[in-house]
Amino acid sequence: MVKEIKVFPDPVLYEENSNIDRISDAVRQLARDMTDTMYEKGGIGLAAPQVGENCQLVTVDVSGPQRREELLVMVNPEIIETKGDVESEEGCLSLPEFKGTVRRAEEVTVSWRDLEGGIRQMQASGLLACCLQHEIDHLRGVLLVDQVGRLKRNMYEKKMKKLYSSEQ
Ligand SMILES: [Zn+2]
Repeated sequence: MVKEIKVFPDPVLYEENSNIDRISDAVRQLARDMTDTMYEKGGIGLAAPQVGENCQLVTVDVSGPQRREELLVMVNPEIIETKGDVESEEGCLSLPEFKGTVRRAEEVTVSWRDLEGGIRQMQASGLLACCLQHEIDHLRGVLLVDQVGRLKRNMYEKKMKKLYSSEQ
């Protein structure tokens, strides 16, 4: 089921996201819903708080909504090693009409649990590495717009408030 995307500055994007101790049917359902939502909205990654669920779950597929060939569902993902750094131009489904450039590690090693409870680990580089860092930032309550400097953030916040008030 496709869910509604929570948009900045919705407070749910800044709340604490709890660890998932038990992979219940509800967690599996949430993973399916997040995958559907990510594809439907044209994203390559999505974190649970973006659909209003404050837990440690992300979905990623850098092959994109057209191909849908590299889906990763990560429970309690954690970056355990980083290497190098790059500049990355990114957008975010929770930040309509926003693009920002941030510094990311060039390579990351990530560990997580899969939906069967198995412990997984992978090394990623390029787009996947940036995408994983972006989604894991969401789980810490950090948005792309919080990483581009105060001026740019304030301008975007104003723009969003205007947009929102004109919809009323
Ligand atoms: Zn995002």
